[in-house]
Amino acid sequence: MAQHPSEGSVAAVSDIPPLDRLLNADALRTALDTHGRTQVVAALRRDLDALRQRALAGGLMRQELDAPVVAARVSAALDKAAQPRLRAVYNLTGTVLHTNLGRALLPEEAVASVLRALTTPANLEFDLDTGGRGDRDDLIDELLCELTGAEAATVVNNNAAAVLLMLNALADKREVVVSRGELVEIGGAFRIPDIMKRAGAKLVEVGTTNRTHATDYDTAIGPRTAMLMKVHCSNYAVTGFTKSVSVAEVAALAHAKGLPATVDLGSGTLVDLTQFGLPKEDTVRETIEAGADLVTFSGDKLLGGPQAGLLVGRADLIRKIKKNPLKRALRVSKLTLAALEPVLGLYRAPEFLSQRLTTLRLLTRPQRQIQPQAEALRATLAHAVGPNYAVEAVPMFSQIGSGALPVDQLPSYGLAVRYTGSGRPGRHLDKLEAQLRRLPTPVIGRIADDALWLDLRCLEARDEAAFAAQLAEPLA
Ligand SMILES: *Cc1c(COP(=O)(O)O)cnc(C)c1O
Repeated sequence: MAQHPSEGSVAAVSDIPPLDRLLNADALRTALDTHGRTQVVAALRRDLDALRQRALAGGLMRQELDAPVVAARVSAALDKAAQPRLRAVYNLTGTVLHTNLGRALLPEEAVASVLRALTTPANLEFDLDTGGRGDRDDLIDELLCELTGAEAATVVNNNAAAVLLMLNALADKREVVVSRGELVEIGGAFRIPDIMKRAGAKLVEVGTTNRTHATDYDTAIGPRTAMLMKVHCSNYAVTGFTKSVSVAEVAALAHAKGLPATVDLGSGTLVDLTQFGLPKEDTVRETIEAGADLVTFSGDKLLGGPQAGLLVGRADLIRKIKKNPLKRALRVSKLTLAALEPVLGLYRAPEFLSQRLTTLRLLTRPQRQIQPQAEALRATLAHAVGPNYAVEAVPMFSQIGSGALPVDQLPSYGLAVRYTGSGRPGRHLDKLEAQLRRLPTPVIGRIADDALWLDLRCLEARDEAAFAAQLAEPLA
């Protein structure tokens, strides 16, 4: 072996240093402290194996074997592997409650409560008055009843679970009457007919896609009917020559036959959204007041809380639901309850809601507040994307998302990026979109009409500097 290997000379397998010597090199000290010996040894082994292969093929250079060079490569590989898979992103899609980006963002109160519940013991199922065993539902059912006017409440993992549980508990081997106009599919995996089957209930479809009348429900009721059910048309609208039957009418028909009327409300808003300038959506309270015996809704849609499925309504029905074994299988964790309680608590002070409830704060941001942000960031983005693209600050429309109010749109502002170079823009916009996704905090926009649109509704002032900072250099 040469004593002084010259720069650029080819290395042989015998030149590869032994693992032990590399492991003791100063350059690996930080990696050992960060990742531990087990992972460093495994990564070193992989690296040396690869070097051996290349040496055999004759393509390995001596300088690649220097301890600091090997250490840097191994450390980088370990750091990369240690990066969390679940990462923060900027949601500039214009869809505030984006299911693929995690839906509602929790307010500070909820974050603090989750942290406490996770790091200290808590009275999750412990009655502090009697010292006996408690029920985890007790932590939130009073609040839910107060906010919705319901007699009783319970909570499960998500709204799909709530519907499944409700149907199994109240309609196993019996019939459930639903309008054909309301057989909704949510995000591919949740379809009312499929859930119905899994719950053991038989779906009885009534009416047509566009029109269902009270008599359709009435004639469908038979000896095996367990309930009449209404489902919120969350992510679509039936327009034109249409007729649907209101909750009040369906409830009256059900009650005349001694049956319950249930409503899958989807988003389940707890307050009148029109007071915040948002479109009208029936609240849970209004649905109960209209006669619904049981209402199910999500925790992480318009409610603005954690993923959860809430069931509120008649005490006897909730009791039956809580006795069903599926309730145990679908129960929520303490994380969920810890987050849900303070979020529900915010609704007690509606005058602060549009500031304190993150989801509502984002939904109610006025266009005039977003416009200056877009104008301020325009030049930064233009510099980052380079000379082949034109960046404009333009008005656009955001959506609430997650099936809430699918038709109404919120006036917003943002940046539109168009390709100005030669050739068709599609491929270049796809490439730009991918570059934005590769940033340390990925930026997620949307491509439509030959432009990349970045809606700034969900970029709050406190995030603006960090957002601009990662665009300081041209995108690679
Ligand atoms: C969103 C939605 C669901 C599913 O709720 P998850 O909380 O996502 O499980 C069910 N029904 C309706 C009408 C919905 O809008």
